[in-house]
Amino acid sequence: MNDLDLTTHRLQPGQPVNLSEIETDGKAFHDDRDAAEEEFEALVEELAEWQRRLYAEGRQKLLVVLQAMDAGGKDSTIRHIFGRTNPQGVQVHSFKVPTAQELAHDFLWRIHQRVPGKGMIGVFNRSHYEDVVVVRVDRLVPESVWRARYEQINQFERLLADTGTTILKFYLHISKKEQRKQFQERIDDPSKQWKFSFDDLEKRKQWDGYMAAYSEALARCTTGAAPWYVIPGDQKWYRLLAVARVLVGTLRQMNPAYPAPERDLSGVVVE
Ligand code: AMP
Ligand code: MG
Repeated sequence: MNDLDLTTHRLQPGQPVNLSEIETDGKAFHDDRDAAEEEFEALVEELAEWQRRLYAEGRQKLLVVLQAMDAGGKDSTIRHIFGRTNPQGVQVHSFKVPTAQELAHDFLWRIHQRVPGKGMIGVFNRSHYEDVVVVRVDRLVPESVWRARYEQINQFERLLADTGTTILKFYLHISKKEQRKQFQERIDDPSKQWKFSFDDLEKRKQWDGYMAAYSEALARCTTGAAPWYVIPGDQKWYRLLAVARVLVGTLRQMNPAYPAPERDLSGVVVE
């Protein structure tokens, strides 16, 4: 089994981040789509086996955070990567515009309730990072409020890590050009139109503001316990491979094991 490289797209704590200078083109990292798809297939099978072990072991927790601009591939990544895992052990949560009840609490209240318990993989489709990105760009709270959140997020993630949660955060990084292509496909395909919203076009107009907000969030909230990965997203095949490599590589390190039977089973025959 080859060792998987976990560092290619991983940010370092303290590293300055400027997303507009980070590659979105997967072809800069891989030139063979067929080989990538073949490797991905094998990794997805392996992931399903690790997930069975994690669940059976019932000790460790894995949190996967996905953020991206609209049409950046969050939904498709979840479907392709976790499609073969056991739904009993994988919980996917999509965080939308907060409800009145959620807004009546601190911003981490709704998040904390959804973090994975022992044996579970939790997948966040959007997350507490919306509270330092969309909230900042749309000026939903004063700067002093969102600025304090970087440290609050780091403390929160530290708490999760200290209590047995492995945290992986992926920013799926698409170009503005690729977003246009994806939006147009949604508009032109009746089975995808439901995914399109006019609000997406408003957000697209604020692209630079989003890049600045994401860049700062990724830089300030990359810690040893909870690193961000910036995944080139313009080619689906590379995006999927890059995420799968990090997930499987991490699970290999976590190395969950099937528990031993409660008693020695040798010679036990069921009548
Ligand atoms: P979608 O993922 O396309 O279903 O859209 C969900 C929407 O909810 C996106 O526009 C997010 O920016 C928005 N959203 C998620 N969390 C928050 C938040 N904490 N504050 C404001 N908007 C949010
Ligand atoms: Mg949307």
